[in-house]
Amino acid sequence: MKYDYLIVGSGLYGAVFAQMAKAKGKKVLVIDKRPNIAGNVYTEKVEGINVHKYGAHIFHTNNKEVWDYVTKFAEFNRFTNSPVANFKGELFSLPFNMYTFNKMWGVVTPEEAQAKIDEQRSEIKGEPENLEEQAVSLVGRDIYEKLIKGYTEKQWGRDCTELPPFIIKRLPVRLTFDNNYFNALYQGIPVGGYTKLVENMLKGIEIKLNTDYLKNKEEYDKLADKVLYTGAIDAYFGYKLGNLEYRSVRFENEILDKPNFQGNAAVNYTDRETPWTRIIEHKWFEFGKDENGNDLPKTVISREYSSEWKPGDEPYYPVNDEKNSKLYEEYRKLAEGEKNVIFGGRLGEYKYYDMDAVIASALKKCEEEL
Ligand code: UDP
Repeated sequence: MKYDYLIVGSGLYGAVFAQMAKAKGKKVLVIDKRPNIAGNVYTEKVEGINVHKYGAHIFHTNNKEVWDYVTKFAEFNRFTNSPVANFKGELFSLPFNMYTFNKMWGVVTPEEAQAKIDEQRSEIKGEPENLEEQAVSLVGRDIYEKLIKGYTEKQWGRDCTELPPFIIKRLPVRLTFDNNYFNALYQGIPVGGYTKLVENMLKGIEIKLNTDYLKNKEEYDKLADKVLYTGAIDAYFGYKLGNLEYRSVRFENEILDKPNFQGNAAVNYTDRETPWTRIIEHKWFEFGKDENGNDLPKTVISREYSSEWKPGDEPYYPVNDEKNSKLYEEYRKLAEGEKNVIFGGRLGEYKYYDMDAVIASALKKCEEEL
């Protein structure tokens, strides 16, 4: 065999594994069906701005091992995610904090806010069984109706009563004036973009782009002792048990001849009527400056539209509801039978992983495997 490992997919999971394997003296080949590396964290320079081509990625973690690992390959800036919610033209601070409660109810003190939440959450008895119950029990009905329901139903294309509670538990609720979306010790955006970060991870490693593994699987399998597969697990098995459901995202990008469109990196449109879920203004991930610290005269925005995945689309989010989790379990059993193949990452494990969790999972796999 020519290689120890064939790595299918150059997103974060594949890049971590490739980097670690090479460091251990293994021979690796990375292939990717796209014309570029970095999977969905790929960034591309437009008008001097690093555009997050497959949606906004804000790195955040509480895991020191992961932070120490990624910062070996890039310097990170001090960006803190503070999205703004736009509900029919009314603006609210996110995540749910004292600024949000003050705007929603006019409350001024944390006690007043807590009393309002307690009064509204009392409608939920017992353990929340779906996202709607979980949301109301966390922040009350008013916030649920204006800031959660529309956004969530657009993003997932499903009723909030049909979605699992854990999705909304990602969002912090705070009785302080703190607009930091994440509860994370470490946070930032890699200076120079994510593509550069992944490029640095893959330095000195052979890469073949525009190369579709599943189209020529048998041929590629002959190249290496083992395969690390980071694509969709159901696609690997030719969808033979039926397809898992995913959400896909479509972006409408626009270059505007003005320096400032919305004054923030992310504005979420939380009503049902606006067809997009959010607008990203990419320059604010890097404070509106180019790499020399100069103000950028133009701006690039992306409207994000969520849709149900269908064959031919890019899968983005696994739909971890009961039906899909069961089907995934069946595929996982099939995967166990593939002795020389490791399945990893958001698509390989059908899991709503954040970037840091993907890296942690890849590092763990490296420890077991290499
Ligand atoms: N969410 C919401 N309103 C918002 C932002 C998020 O209700 O303004 C909920 C929604 O259920 C969503 C989840 O929080 O599915 C996670 O959203 P986030 O934008 O953090 O997910 P990402 O797309 O960034 O992974």
